[in-house]
Amino acid sequence: MNTFSIAIHGGAGTLVKGMMTPELEVQYKLALKKALDAGYAIIENGGTAIDAVEKAVVLLEDSPLFNAGKGSVFTATEGHEMDAAIMDGKTLNAGAVSLITGIKNPVSLSRDVMERSEHVFLAGEGAMQFAKELNYKLENESYFYDELRHNQWLEIKGTDNFQLDHSLKKDSKFGTVGAVACDKNGDIAAATSTGGMTNKKWGRVGDSPMIGAGNYANNKTCAVSCTGSGEFFIRGVVAYDVACLIEHKNMSLKEASEEVINKRILDIGGDGGLIAVDTKGNIAMPFNTEGMYRASKSSAGKEEIAIYKD
Ligand code: ASP
Repeated sequence: MNTFSIAIHGGAGTLVKGMMTPELEVQYKLALKKALDAGYAIIENGGTAIDAVEKAVVLLEDSPLFNAGKGSVFTATEGHEMDAAIMDGKTLNAGAVSLITGIKNPVSLSRDVMERSEHVFLAGEGAMQFAKELNYKLENESYFYDELRHNQWLEIKGTDNFQLDHSLKKDSKFGTVGAVACDKNGDIAAATSTGGMTNKKWGRVGDSPMIGAGNYANNKTCAVSCTGSGEFFIRGVVAYDVACLIEHKNMSLKEASEEVINKRILDIGGDGGLIAVDTKGNIAMPFNTEGMYRASKSSAGKEEIAIYKD
């Protein structure tokens, strides 16, 4: 039987030891463990990688700790605009949504775009219309309200600044979530979901919902979910670049992921990290920031839940 595995992230950034209380650290690790275990249980019971990554991301979206779903950051107009994507490495089917509001689980809407529309990417009002036709319930603003995120926004409200959830402020909460998995059949999948950047405006969209930039899966190579400075990850076509290095340069998953995160994206000024798996169940989780909320588990017996560099 194929080695099966799953990896998840909850954002990368200025995460240094001692930055948060031990209690909060425990909460983050518990939230990561809950999502990891739920995704792992699906593949352990013979389920598909695509089901596992959706489930893990749904649980991370439901936690107020991460910048996705419930914990999404505030936009310049004091609202929430969320982005998500999902991709099935076996079929190369993909779905993505952007600039959506009021949806509890954007990752599930992206899966519906993949499976219940003829399209790959729906944005804004059109995506909301699609959700309405599928009878999605809309949450009101209070569901997404979080005092700390609101304070983060108040500090830069009315300025032209926008801010990555996990940069600059050492006490700020950290962002974007994602999952990648390899199931017992050796099929792989990736999912990513985010609230984007605090105080974003003009319909700003980051890398997370862009197939090939923040999210990609192909059974020929690997499944990847990214987190970091979206503008750079878009220009670096990061997730696809990892796949290209494996396909065209014969690199291993680890070599390709590290080349992109520790060299290529740094060379153009980007900071962040990624999680990746291949069809043999190998896992890579490199980041070039101080830390990245991350967790992984493999049938080969390894489980890791970590925040900081070491
Ligand atoms: N990559 C996300 C974006 O630019 C942000 C993040 O990873 O926290 O929207």
